[in-house]
Amino acid sequence: MNRFIARKLARNVSGLKVLRKTFCTDAAAKGSSSISAKPLHEHEENQVFENDVPQCDIAIIGGGMVGMALASSLASMPLTKHLNVAIVDSNPALGSKLDIKKGDPPDPRVSTVTPATISLFKDIGAWQYVEQHRHAYFNRMQVWDYTGLGYTRYDARDVNKEVLGCVVENKVLHSSLFSCIQDTDFQKTIYPCRLSSMTLQPSMSSTGVNSSLEGTNIHSRGGLAKLELSDGNSLYAKLVVGADGAKSRVRELVGFKTTGWKYSQNAVICTIEHREENQCAWQRFLPSGPIAILPMGDKFSNVVWTMNPKEASECTSMSEEEFVKALNHALDYGYGPHPKSGFLGNGDILSWLKGNATISANECFEVPPEVVKLASGRMAFPLSLMHANDYASKSVVLIGDAAHTVHPLAGQGVNLGFGDAFSLSKIISEGIAVGTDIGELSLLKKYELERKSANIMMMAVLDGIQKAYSVDFGPLNVLRAAAFHGAHYISPLKKSIISYASGEQRLPFFS
Ligand SMILES: Cc1cc2nc3c(=O)[nH]c(=O)nc-3n(C[C@H](O)[C@H](O)[C@H](O)COP(=O)(O)OP(=O)(O)OC[C@H]3O[C@@H](n4cnc5c(N)ncnc54)[C@H](O)[C@@H]3O)c2cc1C
Repeated sequence: MNRFIARKLARNVSGLKVLRKTFCTDAAAKGSSSISAKPLHEHEENQVFENDVPQCDIAIIGGGMVGMALASSLASMPLTKHLNVAIVDSNPALGSKLDIKKGDPPDPRVSTVTPATISLFKDIGAWQYVEQHRHAYFNRMQVWDYTGLGYTRYDARDVNKEVLGCVVENKVLHSSLFSCIQDTDFQKTIYPCRLSSMTLQPSMSSTGVNSSLEGTNIHSRGGLAKLELSDGNSLYAKLVVGADGAKSRVRELVGFKTTGWKYSQNAVICTIEHREENQCAWQRFLPSGPIAILPMGDKFSNVVWTMNPKEASECTSMSEEEFVKALNHALDYGYGPHPKSGFLGNGDILSWLKGNATISANECFEVPPEVVKLASGRMAFPLSLMHANDYASKSVVLIGDAAHTVHPLAGQGVNLGFGDAFSLSKIISEGIAVGTDIGELSLLKKYELERKSANIMMMAVLDGIQKAYSVDFGPLNVLRAAAFHGAHYISPLKKSIISYASGEQRLPFFS
């Protein structure tokens, strides 16, 4: 890296030092309370611009897991760690200390993070914080369907890895990313409110990151976005990142169209307890949708059970005893028999395609551990597929669920969002290295190009699986059984599936 540029950036890019972070509750942030969301800065007489409107290099709208991943990643790189970043979100969890008591059952809102995500978290220094809290690595997985015609087992050793993934509570991921930036001198300011509206100032010049801080008159703000916040304050930003989830206000304000559909399915989630520790991830495709049991450490597991909205409302309102009974029914003999290995001749019919048999190819079907008790409340989430037709325009870019939402059947949603966040921070850094304005459309389009293909491919795969398993039709059931057997016995296919699901390969192909 060019030392001169780094020094110059350190001096000039964002000389604003946060003296006081302003946190307040949601209600306070929304109301006209006396608590101001406006940050205080050192050298205010030099840095506060006309009308007292503060200015930042990047405004991240939405401090959820993906917004925080972007902030952490920016904080970890030499060329971006000096940027002046505003995080706008009224969620009171932002910045509050994680309070998990030993023995508390895990929160039902969890994410399965892939090995690729774990490795990115390690790179930016966030994984060490995850490891200080409850998390559960898993190295085995079994997938089967209700017809009893086939099953597939996966083992991390099939691809010479130690783990297939890790199940972590969302609040742990979120707070780990936050701790990661707290430990640096990253110049972030948290605005505990929501974005209300946004106007883009016409571009005056494009002179790189420093231009935003060169003057204090209105002309220096050409090309900046002016953000109106829910507490009545305003903020100028050189780049606005919409990390504000599926109902993104940024996406709406910038006018990006979306493509997608509702699945007419809800996911019921909760934490359950077994008699013994569960170390495997289980997924069974039922006529109404998949049910997944994800290990959470100790005797706990997380349930993600997809069904139609009427069934979901029954499932969330029935007694605990009835629910546990329904769960065990769905995971065991309910809807159909246990699959046997011999459906296609113990896989011998596929022997010409087997290559070097994987470790898991010899494993028999197992019944998941019995659920003995409910360990949390039950929540239901409507499911949909949504993709923004554009991710970037001048000075505005979308990441995470603001750009795409997927069916949770393979636990990929936030992993895609993390991929966006890390890709965007890398591209911003590359832009700064060559003196490109961070709001420049050509730079942001590079990010769009890189992420769109990866996201669309994963969305197509997940939607295809969702559709293939939503139909109960004899010949299709046999085809699905053949797919299970193929994935179970054909080593190159199995390895490709594991690599793709691990986030390490762009497309499933035979390797
Ligand atoms: C049942 C279920 C199970 C799932 N399981 C997995 C899994 O195992 N693995 C996986 O990878 N993914 C999973 N997902 C997907 C994952 O939860 C999402 O992809 C992820 O939460 C998206 O994160 P985000 O930060 O992009 O958006 P969000 O989590 O929606 O965060 C958006 C943030 O923006 C803020 N915000 C909104 N509007 C504004 C505004 N106007 N101004 C300022 N701030 C605003 C909100 O307060 C929020 O903090 C699952 C999803 C569901 C529904």
